[in-house]
Amino acid sequence: MITENLTEVRSRIAAACVRAGRKPEDVRLIAVSKTKPVSMLMEAYEDGARDFGENKVQEILEKRPQMPEDTRFHMIGHLQTNKVGQVIDKTVMIHSVDTVHLAERIEKEAAKRDLVADVLLEVNVAREESKFGFDPDEVEAALETIGKFSHIRVKGLMTIAPFVENAEENRKFFKKLFQLYVDIKSKNIDNGTMSELSMGMTGDYEVAIEEGATMIRVGTGIFGSRQNGVERV
Ligand SMILES: *Cc1c(COP(=O)(O)O)cnc(C)c1O
Repeated sequence: MITENLTEVRSRIAAACVRAGRKPEDVRLIAVSKTKPVSMLMEAYEDGARDFGENKVQEILEKRPQMPEDTRFHMIGHLQTNKVGQVIDKTVMIHSVDTVHLAERIEKEAAKRDLVADVLLEVNVAREESKFGFDPDEVEAALETIGKFSHIRVKGLMTIAPFVENAEENRKFFKKLFQLYVDIKSKNIDNGTMSELSMGMTGDYEVAIEEGATMIRVGTGIFGSRQNGVERV
């Protein structure tokens, strides 16, 4: 099932790239494996998947030692400051930096280990009450602070769009994040490190690609639905 799903997702990515006049290699597929067993991650790995998204520190700590060394784990869920030290050197990117406070902790833990952490700033583009992330109006100020940290590289922006029946309804949010990204890049407050836009999930990744996503996070579309249909975001 995973093989067929991956083939399907990859061909849809390719088709969306054609529509948008983009190159498929400019869109990275992150297989969101939260709640799924290592056996399923391995199946995806054998089909060429190397980037995996998890939203719980504990799952990364458990799965990572069981996967081949070139597996890349992305932290995509809300990260508590007291857990930063546990994952900082076990992830290739933290997509979910949602406060300056969290960034300060990442800076401190990265400095201790003498590494530079690649992160994305999470933006609550749709301004949903239930979601984490910076308000679009706060991003620039946050970046002015975080951009000065020497152990953090802000690689771009991330958003979790609303859950909608029709992916087209999210196009405006993807456009808005892209615009914010372009505006920030033009001001060069990021020291030129910004190059990534993490947006689009199973229900709307094709629209996200059309609007400029460089990373899409697909769970259900690869691994099937999560238990009892309960969404563990
Ligand atoms: C679960 C999750 C996804 C994947 O969602 P699907 O709808 O299963 O593709 C993507 N991004 C984040 C942040 C998630 O928590």
